[in-house]
Amino acid sequence: MKLIASFLAALAAVATLPALAAEVVVYSARNEQLIKPLFDAYTKETGVQVKFVTDGEGPLMARLKAEGKNTPADIFMTVDAGNLWQAANEGLLKPVTSKTLAANIPAHLKDPDNEWFGLSVRARTLVYNKNKVKPADLSTYEDLASPKWKGRLCLRTSKKVYNQSLAAMMIWEHGEGQTEDILKGWVANLATAPFANDNKAMEAVAAGQCDVTVVNTYYYGRLMEKNPNLPLAIFWPNQNLKSKAAGVHVNVSGAGLTKHAKHEAEAVKLLEWLSSDQAQNLYADVNMEYPANPKVKPDAAVAAWGAFKQNLINVAEAGKLQTKAVMMMDRVGYK
Ligand code: FE
Repeated sequence: MKLIASFLAALAAVATLPALAAEVVVYSARNEQLIKPLFDAYTKETGVQVKFVTDGEGPLMARLKAEGKNTPADIFMTVDAGNLWQAANEGLLKPVTSKTLAANIPAHLKDPDNEWFGLSVRARTLVYNKNKVKPADLSTYEDLASPKWKGRLCLRTSKKVYNQSLAAMMIWEHGEGQTEDILKGWVANLATAPFANDNKAMEAVAAGQCDVTVVNTYYYGRLMEKNPNLPLAIFWPNQNLKSKAAGVHVNVSGAGLTKHAKHEAEAVKLLEWLSSDQAQNLYADVNMEYPANPKVKPDAAVAAWGAFKQNLINVAEAGKLQTKAVMMMDRVGYK
């Protein structure tokens, strides 16, 4: 009797507590302007508050590590599979078993152990000067190492994870010996020292300093939106190959559940929502990226660049082979 009475008293106490607003905390290396509209839409739809902290991926990973069990973060969000792989490799993430995520995100765009999931796709492709290059002259990333491109190639620095991931995936496709030869060829063909970012490399191509470069499509999109008259065009390489190297190199921006998430169920729901039809365009279009969910169409401006075959290597390989890639780029003098 006494037990029942105290149980009823406890129930009554719970019933009189004000309802706690559900919330999720995100550490994001994507900046506020890209993620706030998305989280606002989620809150509007579900009533769940999304708190977020934005910073570089390095500082955020260091913070997660330092905070350990006490971290308030439930989700870590960043760009490039190399960075996501590193977070998982350092034990900062926790696997998520979700039928929704399994159905919405293709296998090559997520961690095989489900510690992170690609949410948007960025294609790292060729951009050329229309006045100097015919599309028929272009074919593959590998071909940019051939002597016909001597003094005609511009590249972004190897210090950025994007080109490290690209080189890492080439190691997976071709092995170390052949990849090293390709990278040597690229370096031998450079018109000038590597640039700090994709934009500078494209501006050099537009100015006629070189003829072709390798960039992420959203930088091309943004640059052309600002300067529609630049003599630049996109080329999708490796489309006719049958080997492992077939298809355009894609990478992801994505997210994972943190190892010490305090709002695990809510965090998984947010990840699932981010992969859904209604969120994918919000997530991808704002940065001129491609939805990771293949059922969702890209924004019209992005679709106008044409359809292409993706390389189907699991993007996690970019992380696994990153150290090898960095050492190789250093060896061949790719600055
Ligand atoms: Fe970027």
